[in-house]
Amino acid sequence: MLAAMSTTPAPPPDRAAAGAGAPSAGPVRERGDACPGALRLHAADDGALARIRLPGGLLTARQALELARISEDLGDGHLDLTSRGNVQLRGLAGGCGGTVAGRLRKHGMLPSDRHDRIRNVAASPLCGLDGFAPESASGSGSGSEEAPANIQAWVRELDGLLCADDAPVDLTHLSGRFLFGLDDGRGDIVALRPDVTLIASGPGRAGLYFGTSGPGLRVSAADAPRAAVLAAAEFLAAREACGSTAWRVRELPAGQRPAVARLVERLAEADILSTPLPSLRLPLGEPPVPGVVTGPDGLRALSVTAPLGRLTSAQWRLVSGMAGREGNGELRVTPWRGLVVPGLAAAKAPGLLATLADAGFVTSPDSAWHRAGACAGRPGCAKSLADVRADAAACLASGQAAGATALPVYWSGCERRCGHPGGGPWVDVLATGDGYRVTVRDGNRITVQDGGRQDAAPRTVTTAGLAGAVATARTTT
Ligand code: SF4
Repeated sequence: MLAAMSTTPAPPPDRAAAGAGAPSAGPVRERGDACPGALRLHAADDGALARIRLPGGLLTARQALELARISEDLGDGHLDLTSRGNVQLRGLAGGCGGTVAGRLRKHGMLPSDRHDRIRNVAASPLCGLDGFAPESASGSGSGSEEAPANIQAWVRELDGLLCADDAPVDLTHLSGRFLFGLDDGRGDIVALRPDVTLIASGPGRAGLYFGTSGPGLRVSAADAPRAAVLAAAEFLAAREACGSTAWRVRELPAGQRPAVARLVERLAEADILSTPLPSLRLPLGEPPVPGVVTGPDGLRALSVTAPLGRLTSAQWRLVSGMAGREGNGELRVTPWRGLVVPGLAAAKAPGLLATLADAGFVTSPDSAWHRAGACAGRPGCAKSLADVRADAAACLASGQAAGATALPVYWSGCERRCGHPGGGPWVDVLATGDGYRVTVRDGNRITVQDGGRQDAAPRTVTTAGLAGAVATARTTT
């Protein structure tokens, strides 16, 4: 199958994820989901863009090296990490889609053409690496004596089920935005607000939820991936029943969301036992902190992030080679535009972290670049009102806006705010054409923070005053 180039503009943001709140009647999707993939490329101003989906952010060092080679041979020599733990290649020449797809296929990164865009699976990236284990059915826990869940095994099984051609329900009707979240109990993936959430809740057990609040169902860990697929099938059935065009569970009209009781029946038909879990809001957790991660087995992992989510192919080669030579041959891309390198010797880990710091990775939570992001902006995106990445870099390099407890910050070139952070409060730095508007957003709540003032009418901050305004906003309590 030849890759197709989409000429549609970048898709609109997810309203609910943008903090607009759950609509009572759900949005009307008047056109198909234009999410890019490995086969359907997006035509950006700086060339074609391919999104390589990496379920659970998992890839081998050999696969990672191939991505570097593709970006060098066919793209602009950079790799972008996305807010779902995927990788994007930009600046691809027109007509090279078939070559990209062929190389991905050969290296196991495009297992199914038909199912490419539904392989949206986020998973706790530190699972099994830092001694965390769930200790209660609600999913809250911190290093109990219980064995950690094997979330990465769930990822692989779920991916296989998503790509199966003989699935009882045609899951290709899911949108490219429908997200499966596999959480090891710490709540980091819950914070991404998946559409179907599996959360480890003790030895051999998992909680299954539509969205991130109950009621839910308890299923055995062995059945969890199959149960998640059936939950997605129930979403499709609920969507069809009400004639909705919703892409996500929370976009369905109130009262039309998939019913847990119907899911119980669907699970029973597939010989999956389930028991009800009380209605609750799942606890939220934090993303990995940059630095050395100490494992219970004496091994170490490195957690780093990419400055503004972008790496050069040289940086990518460095970390991929490290994973292959010093680690266990595996890399994990995190949904916070980071990378985890597992399986390192304890004695070597600090030196390897220093190597990555020297190469420009973010390796400490005290860095101003920690939890800072930006959309593509100019010149890559025609909609952008500014070169947001250059302005963000200048702001962060000024030495202000740092600190381990600083709020996440995100620069956007227009109101779409592609790739902005989800979860808790974050600082929104929005280009206005003659400067930026700085606000703190937390769901529906928006607080104006410009240069230390708090009032109801945001004003535009010039680039000269931007670093101070951002610093103030990031330390808002
Ligand atoms: S300017 Fe940024 S936020 Fe706006 S469409 Fe382009 S990439 Fe998305």
